[in-house]
Amino acid sequence: MLALLLLLQAQAPVQRAALTISPEDIRRRIGIIADDSMRGRDTPSPELDKVAQYIGREYRRLGLKPGGDRGTFIQRYSIDRVKIIAESSAAFVHGGPGATLKYGNDFIFADNLFASGDYAGDLVLVSGPLTGATADTTALAGKMIVLASPRLRSSDRERVFNWKPAGIVLLSGASDSMWAQIVSRNNRPQMRNPGRQVGGPVALGLRMASLQPTAAALGIDLAAAQSASTFAVQPLTGTQLHVRARIQSLEHSSAPNVVAILEGSDPTLKNEYVVFSAHMDHVGVAGPRGSGGCRAQGADSICNGADDDGSGTVAVVELAEAFAGLQPRPKRSIIFLNVSGEEKGLWGSEYFSNHPAVPITNIVADLNIDMIGRNWRDTIVAIGKEHSDLGATLNRVGAAHPELNMRPIDDIWPDENFYFRSDHYNFARKGVPILFFFSGTHPDYHQVGDSPDKIDAEKESRVARLIFYLGVDIANSAERPKWNPDSYKRIVTGN
Ligand SMILES: [Zn+2]
Repeated sequence: MLALLLLLQAQAPVQRAALTISPEDIRRRIGIIADDSMRGRDTPSPELDKVAQYIGREYRRLGLKPGGDRGTFIQRYSIDRVKIIAESSAAFVHGGPGATLKYGNDFIFADNLFASGDYAGDLVLVSGPLTGATADTTALAGKMIVLASPRLRSSDRERVFNWKPAGIVLLSGASDSMWAQIVSRNNRPQMRNPGRQVGGPVALGLRMASLQPTAAALGIDLAAAQSASTFAVQPLTGTQLHVRARIQSLEHSSAPNVVAILEGSDPTLKNEYVVFSAHMDHVGVAGPRGSGGCRAQGADSICNGADDDGSGTVAVVELAEAFAGLQPRPKRSIIFLNVSGEEKGLWGSEYFSNHPAVPITNIVADLNIDMIGRNWRDTIVAIGKEHSDLGATLNRVGAAHPELNMRPIDDIWPDENFYFRSDHYNFARKGVPILFFFSGTHPDYHQVGDSPDKIDAEKESRVARLIFYLGVDIANSAERPKWNPDSYKRIVTGN
């Protein structure tokens, strides 16, 4: 009986802290950051910066330590707006029948993977599912890899980068009209992914017909390679590809992440960190610049992003408030991270994972939150449960808090590959175990209807409290979370 009383007393501060995560706060904060005046928080935009400043002020008020640039809460990464110079860009196949490939007619530069430069290497055809890549791939370094597979997943993309090729060529079987659309999109000014190092491979989309003569001379059937069911590497013997990429920089800008740290109370464990993350950017307003498919509806042209990801953004702020009020402080330190550029391709989290405020090996978990303000009232999907013991920890924490009436369940959309599609992936690929909290999409996804009035703040408060209890458990436990060995091999080392 006494033991139980002591246990209850020890629990009380944690519960009190959890209760500071309230529906009223959630509603109020989403009302601020998803207001029409924030114009959909596009990356980059003055409104996105306004939201970052607001979050930084909240962290300062809560007494957290800045984890951004030069003693501030803001970490900035630079963005280049660039345009391809069509008339000076070209590619040449040497050897075999040879070919001069024209930008626009025969090939485009695949998004975000290019920098001005000259690239060359022997042509090698890679076919079949890349997950089955058992063959020795060290020989692919410095080569121009032609990927026959018509669909490339983010996880595949990382794998191909690790082969260190000179270039990546994606074969396109697009019809003439579809190709014309692809080219016109490629020709528009675009933002270059700031996380990709200049000096990496060039990436092309190449029409299959343009490579056909070269392949045919070697007796290779490209169409057959596209539907291959086993992994194969086949050199296009005696042929090389030279690529001349000419890119013009139109303007330099930058975008913010917000980083705050709560120092842990244990002299040793405080050097390890639990990260709570969410993306504060959204897709902006309807119009040609809108990258996320935002369309006007009547007089409304602002995609508010209240659920995506206003809900996760304010959850991280509410978690910060709960942790800041918790005495004693957790043993491990906590990082509250609000990233941007997610909608453009996980830019902010990629930048943070390459320039973390603390050594990345000291980050023991990332709990990422995206879209938890709508749909089911008693269930939350946690993607990634099967990949580490965080799944079992979450089940245990969920079962210990029946009052939340919030059941954590497994990924119910494995075919959608959500594990590879939001900011947590930039932690996972660096070896940090993750869970991704997500309530699924809805017809208002990336549309003007994703507005604050549709947020179920009461339900969201219970999801956020569950994540809070989980964070407390991870931060205080003797052992750091562990990967399941098979998942580690597949996701981190890429074998
Ligand atoms: Zn999102």
